[in-house]
Amino acid sequence: MMENIEKLQEIIDNSNNIVFFGGAGVSTESGIPDFRSVDGLYNLKYKYPPEQIISHTFFQYKPEEFYRFYKDKMMCLDAKPNKAHTFLAKLEEKGKLSAVVTQNIDGLHQAGGSHTVYELHGSIHRNYCTKCHTFYDAEFVKNSKDLIPKCTKCGGIIKPDVVLYEEGLDDETVTNAINAISNCDTLIIAGTSLVVYPAASFIRYFKGNHLVLINLSETSADKTADLVIHGKVGEVLSQIKI
Ligand code: NAD
Repeated sequence: MMENIEKLQEIIDNSNNIVFFGGAGVSTESGIPDFRSVDGLYNLKYKYPPEQIISHTFFQYKPEEFYRFYKDKMMCLDAKPNKAHTFLAKLEEKGKLSAVVTQNIDGLHQAGGSHTVYELHGSIHRNYCTKCHTFYDAEFVKNSKDLIPKCTKCGGIIKPDVVLYEEGLDDETVTNAINAISNCDTLIIAGTSLVVYPAASFIRYFKGNHLVLINLSETSADKTADLVIHGKVGEVLSQIKI
């Protein structure tokens, strides 16, 4: 492990345009469960699998089931940024990191101080009335007295600005993410099983010098990475000096 940390230190020291591509594993050290770890949401005994519940179909036709799961499992409003989030914010501040591309919807990168964050799957912190488009914050949605949050102006159902299964990604966010990945010299991929598409496919645009992978379990990109570290992303990154 020590040897890998030294290699990572050297790569980061010699990079000037790093992009970080992350997933739910980046937030597990903040206490937010991911999907595919042993204690992840896929392994909880629910009536429906998570990708079915947080789908467009469920939002439309079974909004109670959707909001029960979404509020309870996806809206972890007490979670705080961990060592990975704060490390990346510092790397950006030092001018070494150009963007964080995340599949997470928890807003913890911004809470940790990062500025350029491309949220491929949206954010729990933005919510809009489906009728009149009035904005609502996460606290309003989480604490609404009715299970299904309604607009105080027109009574319309409020929808999170989150990309649900069966929905497409935002074009501008995708373009920004692909540009960042295409132009960086080092890509650090961390805390993602790389099985959610199209997000996982964007790492193919990388043509820089160093591909680094930090993940607890193996991924399909391990064989193409220059450096693979199987460990906790917060623990690993906090050993790097910047
Ligand atoms: P995933 O659950 O499929 O995979 C998480 C990966 O991270 C696993 O391979 C696991 O071994 C690894 N991991 C867990 N903790 C780690 C740690 N501390 N350090 C390093 N690796 C760790 O997650 P995914 O690939 O992001 O796909 C799941 C989808 O679900 C995404 O689209 C995401 O939007 C959504 N999701 C988001 C959140 C969140 O916003 N925090 C939480 C759950 C799910």
